[in-house]
Amino acid sequence: MIDQHNRIIFHPDKKRIGEKIINNTGLDYINNHRKGSIRLKNSLGIDNLAGFAHIPSVKWIVVSQQPTDDLLAQANTLILKVSIGIFFFYLFIFLVVWYISSFISSPLNRLARMASMLNQAEIQDKIKEVDPWYFEVLKFRTSLLLSSETFSHRIAELKHRVNTDPLTGLYNRRGMQLFLNELVKTRTEFAALAIDIDFFKKVNDHYGHDQGDMVLQTLAQIMQTNFRDHDICCRSGGEEFLVLMTTADPSVAYKAAERLRTTMQQTNINGMGQITISVGIAFWPQDAADVNEVLKIADNKLYEAKHSGRNCTRSTAEQQT
Ligand code: GH3
Ligand code: MG
Ligand code: MG
Repeated sequence: MIDQHNRIIFHPDKKRIGEKIINNTGLDYINNHRKGSIRLKNSLGIDNLAGFAHIPSVKWIVVSQQPTDDLLAQANTLILKVSIGIFFFYLFIFLVVWYISSFISSPLNRLARMASMLNQAEIQDKIKEVDPWYFEVLKFRTSLLLSSETFSHRIAELKHRVNTDPLTGLYNRRGMQLFLNELVKTRTEFAALAIDIDFFKKVNDHYGHDQGDMVLQTLAQIMQTNFRDHDICCRSGGEEFLVLMTTADPSVAYKAAERLRTTMQQTNINGMGQITISVGIAFWPQDAADVNEVLKIADNKLYEAKHSGRNCTRSTAEQQT
């Protein structure tokens, strides 16, 4: 507090009370304005920020001033503290938002990834594992399950079509090869039964191609009832068939072949009279380590049956039957 003669009448430093102010760069400004603020150098030459107001009744002036460096240091510390506070606040908000958004989007993410894997066998189970905890996921999950079901049905249907013969419904050469590979891979012993219709050319010539087809279909039906489910019936081409029987017992194979042959002989197909078949049997791996060699041996046995007068079965293990 200073009076009209610029003498200090109050100061936090009691020693300065009574001192006349000189060398204060803001003194003129303070004297000439009723109130205000100013940056000044005080009588000790220290840079200060000051606020002041006149008390007109006694012509005193109240000046409140603080060293600029102290104030800036305080401000800097405050700014630093506020910045750190804001940083951690936003970090916290970011983590919360990130956690919530990943919680919401993770089922959609998983389903989206599965959408490109619909051809995988176990994909339906994986889709079912996704918890449909909100409407969009439920809708997405349901439509994905539906399309994966349609997809797997189509694939199964295509696989079936690719591996089967359209006329008889039996496996074609391609399907037969798949089973042969599987039998070899699992080292499952099997008997190969090569079957050929006797004088089939005559059937075609006599009754026409359509009736010939009917004979092929009838034989295929008889084959499917004659053999067990795990035996594999194939149409290897034209009027030639092949059965892969998962047995190593020659008499079982022989009996099944004979049962088929006699059933065919006894079946009257559209009044075409007696139509017979000949059968040749070989065994894997007893007859040859190579599967294709075994099929050739079965074919040789079939031609042996043809040369023995047809309508009969010949096996590499005939002496055992
Ligand atoms: P073999 O007793 O020696 O077996 O005499 P085959 O007449 O049965 O033998 P061949 O090989 O001379 O004749 C087979 C005939 O099978 C010739 C062909 O016209 C007929 N064929 C082949 N594929 C089909 C078919 O898909 N449908 C019909 N209808 N006939 C077929
Ligand atoms: Mg033939
Ligand atoms: Mg024939």
